[in-house]
Amino acid sequence: MFDNFARNIEYLRVSVTNKCNLRCKYCMPEEGIADIGHENILSIEEIGRLVRIGARLGIRKVRLTGGEPLVRKNIATLIADIAAIPKISDISITTNGMLFADMAEDLKKAGLKRVNFSLDSLDPDRFKYITSRGILKNVIRSISKAMELDMGPVKINMVVMKGANDHEILDFVELAKKMPLNVRFIEFMPVGDLPFYKTDRVVTVHDIRKIIEQKYELTKNVTIQGNGPAKSYQIRGGLGTIGFISAMSDHFCGECNRIRMTADGKLRSCLFSNNELNMKLALKNNASDDKIAEIFTKAIKEKPNRHHMNEGWGADNKRKMYQIGG
Ligand code: SAM
Ligand code: SF4
Repeated sequence: MFDNFARNIEYLRVSVTNKCNLRCKYCMPEEGIADIGHENILSIEEIGRLVRIGARLGIRKVRLTGGEPLVRKNIATLIADIAAIPKISDISITTNGMLFADMAEDLKKAGLKRVNFSLDSLDPDRFKYITSRGILKNVIRSISKAMELDMGPVKINMVVMKGANDHEILDFVELAKKMPLNVRFIEFMPVGDLPFYKTDRVVTVHDIRKIIEQKYELTKNVTIQGNGPAKSYQIRGGLGTIGFISAMSDHFCGECNRIRMTADGKLRSCLFSNNELNMKLALKNNASDDKIAEIFTKAIKEKPNRHHMNEGWGADNKRKMYQIGG
């Protein structure tokens, strides 16, 4: 499926729930979120059907996200359903890693190929502070389990925030040096209107690189499976790699190959645009597969050529990251 800017859209990110077992300060309010009601959330069967229709149109890769995808009931059933679609070649999840270790074997058996962990601190107290309730050792156990089960390349996503965790950048590089992990540094984005976001908390990829290169030599550009917008490098003498995701300072929209489905069934062609098409309503109205396919095609045709987040767009964003699926 090509959009109007000749980008081949083959990657669907599905948010399977708004809910989460953590409350990262930059993502979800401490008091949690209002329950939007079971009937307004896509069912596991509906998600499976939508992916099947997407695959008919050219979707080849699926990532499950949220909220926290592993708090969704029957997530392994959904993974198995998607894995059974012949045209889907890659299924992955993005998780906070709190529950993954104990579910890993079942998820792998169901067909999960890869996993990305979000981890913003290697210090247990700081990790707890940022996530409001996270337990670092659970996440570390989950990362080890993913490596043990060969669900690689295992990626670690760190959102870098000045004054909150930027002093740990080199610790994360050291982690990637010692372990075969792909550690990715992500620029803080103004998604939603949580008070924790402030422009002076943003550390640009340029500045992150400067800090790293004072101590480490980044050797060559490498290609990591499923790495999308990240630019990845080897560290001289290291086992793993590091990557940079510069959503704010240097947008990579020209290479964007994805569309997103929210947990309440809205199809979004861009993370940073409020334009949504209501799939859930179409499903409630018993839309045929052809009608659903038409909605997919419309979303792709309406995909904007780039986002305008770094021009103050974030302020009027109606949804937060956990509602869209980061
Ligand atoms: N709960 C899962 C997790 O944390 O991995 C999946 C959903 S979470 C919304 C997906 C990713 O979005 C996480 O890596 C998180 O760090 C990132 N994220 C959330 N809000 C963000 C923001 N304002 N700027 C940059 N990344 C953000
Ligand atoms: Fe939950 Fe992920 Fe948002 Fe943290 S970033 S609150 S883990 S959805």
